[in-house]
Amino acid sequence: MTGFERRREEAEMHLRMQLMKEMSAVMQRTGLPPMIVMREAVRAIGVIYRETADAHQGPGSCSCGWQPQEAADLDYLGRALLEASRQPRRRDLGAMQVLGTA
Ligand SMILES: [Zn+2]
Repeated sequence: MTGFERRREEAEMHLRMQLMKEMSAVMQRTGLPPMIVMREAVRAIGVIYRETADAHQGPGSCSCGWQPQEAADLDYLGRALLEASRQPRRRDLGAMQVLGTA
């Protein structure tokens, strides 16, 4: 496994556990159904994309070198949502532990 792939997997696991924890807390606190809370989480990602892309364009923009390409970027993110959602369920200890405490 490359260093990049290891860091990507660490990021994925961290974000999944945090999002599961936060979404479970929001559902308990608000009583909102899962699909509403998941839609808001996806919308939050969209807003974060917009803000991050804006911070990489124009005067005073971030100097890391990323150049947003909105159509391709949004297609990439949309495909990631579909691919992850259609995966066969994995027995994932981290996520199961968070669910068990919800
Ligand atoms: Zn940057």
